[in-house]
Amino acid sequence: MKTWQCSVCGYIHRGDKPPEKCPVCGVAASRFVEIDEASVPEKMPKRERPMAKTRSGKPETDEGQAPPPAIKETGFEKIKSLLLKHHAHPVSVHIPNGILPAAVILWLMAWVFDYDLLSKAAFINLIFVIAALPFVIFTGILEWKKKYNGTLTLIFKLKIIAATVTTISCIISLFWYLIDPRILSSPKALVFMLINIIMLVSTGIAGHIGGKLVFKD
Ligand SMILES: [Zn+2]
Repeated sequence: MKTWQCSVCGYIHRGDKPPEKCPVCGVAASRFVEIDEASVPEKMPKRERPMAKTRSGKPETDEGQAPPPAIKETGFEKIKSLLLKHHAHPVSVHIPNGILPAAVILWLMAWVFDYDLLSKAAFINLIFVIAALPFVIFTGILEWKKKYNGTLTLIFKLKIIAATVTTISCIISLFWYLIDPRILSSPKALVFMLINIIMLVSTGIAGHIGGKLVFKD
């Protein structure tokens, strides 16, 4: 049996042929390279693995060429490398992922019990979400470009759409509440809640895809 590695996400496949498309990131079979089983330690993230060896013994790169010589990074490039190295995206994404569901539950309770203090709490929570989102999106794009070479398969398109929907619905919720703090007592409360549910679902989708890419299962 042969061992194949996806050159985009690092997924490992064992079989006589590479899969028709990568079950994790969705790229075609042509993006798989045959590797030496022994050179890929199990359960290690791609970028921490020693460079997997192809069957020809040459190091694995996208173009099948030797890796470029290391260039000394300065300024902004160095900051970007540090952010990637220290997993800034998966770390920072916990802020919106953690606070956003709490905010939606608070809106829901404020609506059901007609209790204004809860909607104030929801509003304050969403401010933390919108404050964190620019950094989360920036580090997300950084990971996508550097780690996955900006590959635009369905899974990455869905993630970009989910992040965009989350951001837009968060901005709508915040501004709507600012304009009309009694929104949850008005007839338009249902529409307001629907926007918040959409925001929650899109956050869940973005998080689910992120988990799939990280854990490859
Ligand atoms: Zn893949």
